[in-house]
Parts: sequence; structure tokens; C-alpha cells
Amino acid sequence: MADKLSAVKGMNDILPGESAQWEWLEALLRDLMARYGYHNVRTPIVEPTALFVRGLGEVTDIVEKEMYSFEDRLNGEALTLRPENTAGVVRAAVEHSLLYEGGKRLYYMGPMFRHEKPQRGRYRQFHQFGAEALGFAGPDVDAELIFMVLDLFERLGLQGIRLEINSLGQPQERLQHREALIAHLERHAEQLDEDGRRRLHSNPLRILDTKNPAMQPVVEAAPKLMEYLGPESLAHFNGLRAILDANGVAYTINPRLVRGMDYYNLSVFELVTDQLGSQGTVCAGGRYDGLMAQIGGKPAPAVGWALGMERILELLKVANQLPAIAPVDVFAIVPQAADAPLVAGLLRSLRQQGVAVQMHAGGRDGQGSMKSQFKKADASGARYALVFGQDELAQGMVALKPLRAPEGESAPPQRLVSLSDVATWGRELCAPPGA
Ligand code: ATP
Ligand code: MG
Repeated sequence: MADKLSAVKGMNDILPGESAQWEWLEALLRDLMARYGYHNVRTPIVEPTALFVRGLGEVTDIVEKEMYSFEDRLNGEALTLRPENTAGVVRAAVEHSLLYEGGKRLYYMGPMFRHEKPQRGRYRQFHQFGAEALGFAGPDVDAELIFMVLDLFERLGLQGIRLEINSLGQPQERLQHREALIAHLERHAEQLDEDGRRRLHSNPLRILDTKNPAMQPVVEAAPKLMEYLGPESLAHFNGLRAILDANGVAYTINPRLVRGMDYYNLSVFELVTDQLGSQGTVCAGGRYDGLMAQIGGKPAPAVGWALGMERILELLKVANQLPAIAPVDVFAIVPQAADAPLVAGLLRSLRQQGVAVQMHAGGRDGQGSMKSQFKKADASGARYALVFGQDELAQGMVALKPLRAPEGESAPPQRLVSLSDVATWGRELCAPPGA
């Protein structure tokens, strides 16, 4: 036998059972987007490497060490598996002049790729769901996006998720803060770890985001970006706060909240939980007014967020809030293989009426005993068994047997239904709405 092949490290199969939970979450997210008037956009998984180098910035974790990049074998073009989707969405918006008639509200979902050390909540292929509002400058849209995520967590029944916000100001303000920050960090250079020293002159803001406990004192004492914001930046931030406050939304201002990508300005926010160990950020977002121009488009304001689907599902699991997977409505028990033509037609008409039906399928060893077929019917979770017994079929009938009963009651007895009458009894077998 040939050697077994396995999936690439940090890239996971999502198998039935689990995938049903994904589909459930995705459906809920789509519904949420519809309520807020956001529309789906699907961009390629492979993009020119330059999009991320220019879009995210050369000295970001992602561009420095996390990208899966390769050369196109035919023309040598530098390509990358998308590590995030904001740059791709903005590229598409520019390429197709999406903002020609005004702002656009968009969402995406799908796999992203980053070469990181795999651990709980951190994978090399992971999935993001993201919302982007392009072409709107005011803090009202920032608040709209935050409300969306809060609604999501409310609908999922998830608690204990904190909202943290901050303002990164404008590039000019960041530059002044940067000088003060570098001076402070240089004075305490002996307290910086290797990563910190490496970023000192390239991306000092990101040092504030360090997870190294030994660096907390020096980072706590660092000059705060908020103190360098001019009146316009402050007005934007206060505008966002006013909407949150007026609606009783709890949040903390975290002056150390920065983002890994260069393109962020003004509002940044994260939703954080303590329930996932060190991978506690479930959603991260903010404003990126500079990105459109950075990748060659006409300047336009923009704001958005992305959430990690794996982390949301893990949270739901921890909180015991994952839904039960919907079983089929009917399991068909077929004692004689010779009845297959008749059975196949009847089940098909049930399905055409909207009933979910799973058929017992025989094989080389025949149909299997009635007992084993009933066992499978039970295990399927179906509410009914349809038993295609020989005597009943001879009378043009089939036995419909309820398999489930309300707590403490016994299931109602089986009854015979007519094959030719399937249109009248078939519909009754559909799952009741909301089941
Ligand atoms: P971190 O600091 O945890 O590396 P990040 O700043 O790189 O996060 P973003 O690029 O902002 O993360 O991505 C948004 C969200 O996507 C994160 O908050 C997280 O929920 C999820 N995410 C990011 N990287 C991964 C990964 N490798 N595996 C699983 N989920 C991830
Ligand atoms: Mg990261």
C-alpha cells in the first residue's frame, strides 16, 4: 500500500457534523448582513503579492513572515495566498469602480492563509468573516459595524466578550507619537525582547501590542497615542463614543490597542474574551481611510472588521451554545431490494414536497435485517420511519411509524398510508418551522 497522505500542518478538514455548525453560523451571519444592508463580495484566494506588501505594509507580521507566496510557474508573477481579505475587497472595489455611485457596504467569508505556529485558535488555513463599509467617513458607520458584531454575539448567546476601542489618529499624529514612543523605548531598550528590538525602528506601535509579560511595565509607561490626537481626530472618536454611550454599549478604551496592518487610522476596535486562552481576540476592526489610495485608487474612507470563524465556533463550544444538527424527517426502511424502483419514486416525490428523507441502502450483502434497519432509523434522529413491507406494498400502502414522542409519552402507533396519496400525507412530514 502507498504511504498515507495527510493534510498540511495547521490546515484542517471540516467534516460533517462540524461542517453543519459552520453552515449554521454562516447562515446566521448572512441573515445579519441582510438586516444591515451589506452585500456579499467574493474575491480570488490568490492575489498579486504586491497587493499585500503595499496594502498591509512591509514591516507587518503578515508580510514579514506569514505569507504563503510563490512564483507563477509560467510567467514568474509573484503571487500570494490571501492572508486577509480587506486588501482584496478594496482592490476589487477600485478595479470595478464600485464607489462610482456612492458608498458600498460589503461582506465576505472564506479561508485565509498565514504561516504561523499552529495552536488552539491559531491555524495556517483559517476562516474569516468580514464586513467592510467603503466610502463613508463618519463615526456613525463605525458604530453601525460595532453594533453588528454585538448583535451577532447576542444572537449566539455568547457572553463575557468585551469591546475595546481606541483611536489611531491620522498618520501625521502617529508620526509625532512615534518619535516620543521610540525615545521612550530606547531609554528602556534593555527591557525589550528580540521582537521588540527588531520593531523598535520599523514598527514601534506594534510593540505596544506585545504579549510578553516581561515587557508590560515598559509598555504601560509608554506615551499614549491618544494624547497626540488633534481636534478632528478627537471629534471623530468622541462621535463614535457618543453613539455607543447613548445606546448603553459597554466598552473600554484601550490605549494599547493597535492593529497589525499599516492601513488603519482613527477608530480601531476589538472584541475580546478570556475564554480562549491567549487567542482571545474574536473580532478585530477599524478604519482604514488610506488603503484605497495606497493600492492605486481614488482616496475614499473605509471601515470594517473581520472575525475568526474558528474562534467563534470554539467559544460556542465552550459555552455549550452549538446547535443540535438537524436530522432528516424520515428514514426509509426497505426490506426487499426488489422494491427499489417503487421506493425510489415515492421517496423522490416526498423530497420534492420538501421532506428530508434518508433511505436505507443495501449492498453486496443484501438489505440487512429489519432490526438493523430500525436501529439505523433510530440513530438517524428522524421523526418518522417509512416501512416498505411486502404485504403493505401489495395493497398499495406503506407503514408510517412515528419514532419520537414528547418527553414521558410513548410514540403514537404506526398507520398505513396510501402510495398513490403521497401528496396529501407527504407534507405533514416536513419538520415543523423552528424545529
Ligand atoms: P493576532 O494578534 O491574534 O495574531 P491579528 O491581529 O493577526 O491577530 P487580524 O489580522 O486582525 O488578527 O484578524 C482578525 C481576526 O481573525 C482575529 O481577531 C482572529 O479572530 C482571526 N485570526 C487571525 N489570525 C488567525 C489564525 N492564524 N488562526 C485563526 N484565526 C485567526
Ligand atoms: Mg497575527
